[in-house]
Amino acid sequence: MGERVFIGVAWPYADGPLHLGHIAGAYLPPDIFARYHRTKGDEVLMVSGSDQHGTPITLRAEKEGKRPEEIVSQYHQGFLDSWQKLGISFDLFTTTGTANHAEVSQDVFLTLLEKDYIYKATVSQPFCPHCQRFLTDRYIEGTCPYCQSSGARGDLCDDCGKPLNPAELTSPRCSFCGATPEFKDSEHFFFRLSAFRDKLLDWVKPKTYWRQNVLNFTLRYLEGGLKDRAITRDIDWGVPVPLDGFEGKRLYVWFEAVIGYLSAAKEWAKSGGDTEKWRDFWQDSAAKVYNFIGKDNIVFHTIIWPAMLMGYGNLNLPYDVPANEFLTVEGRKLSTSRHWAVWLPDYLERYDPDPLRYLLSVSMPETSDTDFSWREFVRRNNDELVATYGNLVHRALTFTYRSFNGCVPKHSRYDDFSLYLDDLDADIGVKCPDMDDRSANMIEDAKDAFRSMGMNLSRCQFKQAIMEAMRVAQDANRYLEQKSPWKVIKENRQAAADSLYVALCVISHLRKLLYPFLPFSSQKLHRFLGFDGSIEKEGWQPRSPSPGQKLLPPEPLFAKLDGGLIEEEISRLGHTHSQ
Ligand SMILES: [Zn+2]
Ligand SMILES: [Zn+2]
Repeated sequence: MGERVFIGVAWPYADGPLHLGHIAGAYLPPDIFARYHRTKGDEVLMVSGSDQHGTPITLRAEKEGKRPEEIVSQYHQGFLDSWQKLGISFDLFTTTGTANHAEVSQDVFLTLLEKDYIYKATVSQPFCPHCQRFLTDRYIEGTCPYCQSSGARGDLCDDCGKPLNPAELTSPRCSFCGATPEFKDSEHFFFRLSAFRDKLLDWVKPKTYWRQNVLNFTLRYLEGGLKDRAITRDIDWGVPVPLDGFEGKRLYVWFEAVIGYLSAAKEWAKSGGDTEKWRDFWQDSAAKVYNFIGKDNIVFHTIIWPAMLMGYGNLNLPYDVPANEFLTVEGRKLSTSRHWAVWLPDYLERYDPDPLRYLLSVSMPETSDTDFSWREFVRRNNDELVATYGNLVHRALTFTYRSFNGCVPKHSRYDDFSLYLDDLDADIGVKCPDMDDRSANMIEDAKDAFRSMGMNLSRCQFKQAIMEAMRVAQDANRYLEQKSPWKVIKENRQAAADSLYVALCVISHLRKLLYPFLPFSSQKLHRFLGFDGSIEKEGWQPRSPSPGQKLLPPEPLFAKLDGGLIEEEISRLGHTHSQ
């Protein structure tokens, strides 16, 4: 039996469509990771869902004259559609609006309260005497004390970017009616985060395998000391506080959304008919929990959520939190309010999923910010996917199909080496000394990639892994060029069969090595090579085609893109907004 791997992916906020920054930051990496582990035979549970609470959604609903549920369900459907088209293979993608999530969140709240990790305190909060309601940060507007802009909100000034708190605003007003708010006492619950500082430090310090930026950020944050945090608010949209006398209050979205990792595992177990199955991932200490997020989310996943888990007890803490840096677009910082973003639904309407998965994999912002540009998108597609990998596959398959009756030819030494062909511990060159070195090395090199790439993939080093596969593809292209079976076949049909067989073995390995990154084209290639079923069932190891195996008529795996799209796409930036 393999490992147990729980993959918790950041919950996207259901108040707008996804853009490529989200995908490069938090969604493509866990999918690559999940596909790798599934292929390896590990037990994988990958979950996430729409984060549907919080004031940006209620604010937007009120502005558009809709109910928050309508906004949420519109974007939730959009997310599901995008996952399917881009091949992000969640085992469950739910929402924070389920009865199950409320129940699990309330259980965490009550358990922490019972253990005295949650306490009650009175705070002074802005209250609108006209609307008769408390105003959360975003419902209060006023003049920024730093730049005098009149449109600042209680949490932030959009003009100068300074974070604010409501009491700092000059001439504050209620964003609904314009009345001047008063400050009024309100009782709230606080999470005793300060109690976890030493325990968290002890837990984090040995995590030397974490990404440098994640580890350093976490240590710096902890060394600065931890403050207790309010976990309830005076609003009516969210998970209710499960206590009498607190009907008008809800759990703060940051507290409740992270509990989604646990509630989603429970929902998945229930829907699979074995309600206790979530324990395999959350209570078996051998199971590894990974959280894939963007760097703006680190504090919630390496400090706050682990503290909540420690307080609750008997649940696995994250094993790794491979947070990514940011993706810029055409050299500029992404900005949804300025529409400086490439929206995923727009991309998927116009192009195939694998070229995007490829580009974001080779330029993944793992340790520093990276840039997406349409010129690079076209170049990488045409020069690398089409001209290197696609060309290798297409040349080898079409020529074999035409010249060998649509079947895999038999190598002249096949009977000598077939036993060792897919054996990671046997060297073909040693076992079969009369085989030419170039061919033996080519096969060995592609076989070795299962080990080296597997190592990189298990350490969440995705960029390095895909570059290794592309290096093998490049070398196989050179191999075919050197052997030129299309010339050799005129004098020596068996020599052509030999080099084509070697090329087909390498191509078959690349099909699987690239599967976590390029699942659509790998599955296509799987069929062209005459294999049945799903690649994931084969295991993370070489599987060479058998002589005589029937090929399917090949088609190109990738299409060349016209350079004209670059200007066209760039001109869209800053203007269009995807729905
Ligand atoms: Zn008001
Ligand atoms: Zn300002």
